[in-house]
Amino acid sequence: MATGYRGRLAPSPTGLLHLGHARTFWIAAKRAQERGGVLVLRNEDLDPQRCQPEFVAAMYEDLRWLSIRWSEGPDCGGPYAPYSQSERRSFYLEAWQRLRDSGAIYPCSCSRKELHAAATAPNDTDDEPLYPGHCRSRTDAVQFRAPQGVNWRFRVPDGETIEFADQHLGRQAFVAGKDFGDFVVWRRDDVPAYQLAVATDDARMQITEVVRGADLLKSTARQILLFRALGYSVPNYYHCELVRDATGLRMAKRHDAASIRRLREQGLTPSQLLRDAETQTK
Ligand code: GLU
Repeated sequence: MATGYRGRLAPSPTGLLHLGHARTFWIAAKRAQERGGVLVLRNEDLDPQRCQPEFVAAMYEDLRWLSIRWSEGPDCGGPYAPYSQSERRSFYLEAWQRLRDSGAIYPCSCSRKELHAAATAPNDTDDEPLYPGHCRSRTDAVQFRAPQGVNWRFRVPDGETIEFADQHLGRQAFVAGKDFGDFVVWRRDDVPAYQLAVATDDARMQITEVVRGADLLKSTARQILLFRALGYSVPNYYHCELVRDATGLRMAKRHDAASIRRLREQGLTPSQLLRDAETQTK
């Protein structure tokens, strides 16, 4: 068991890091440092379609430029372990097997078209729509020796309120089956889904506090269900306000002009950049 504070930085190399990442990662680094803790860098490069090696190199460089230092993970001379999600498949597979054996997940063969037709409008722009439940009663999960070929969904406890005390935003509560439905833990194209990979990694890396953006608040409720089903203890959470552009939209990797790289090329210093990020959360 971890005794001291263990935090993590978990960027995905799907584009250049932007102002929002700079602020979140800076807070994560500060919290770890203030507590004399360890900061782990985890490269979340699971999706082969969206991740690119040049963005991995850019991530490390941008973090260094911001004076963010980590003591476990790639590029820091720290202890070796696979810290890139693409090298951690065996851990996710083990979690999938356990969830399959306990009946927590089920195979789902619904086509994208069927799901699209049934989807009620999700509350947030990029949230997973509520699954209508067609494949929920399937009992053939244990016949699958490997996950590929179907989507695997977590059977959420309908009506249960999943609560947690966010270290920054206070009490959070989401109702399973209403705020989020049976979510995907393993994709049909044989890629472990974000929720499963992150919950498995945070548990195995013995992370004691997860610092990340408030866009992931609802995912925290999903991940708490996964921790519970896998018998892991739940870390603390600290969700940071989102940094928004001039029109009020939250920063995304499409905002090239707000990337750390571009702002640095324009001559901004790290402290000016962090100050700008701060004003754009208001
Ligand atoms: N890799 C995710 C992202 O870049 C963050 C995951 C997390 O912090 O849980 O959006």
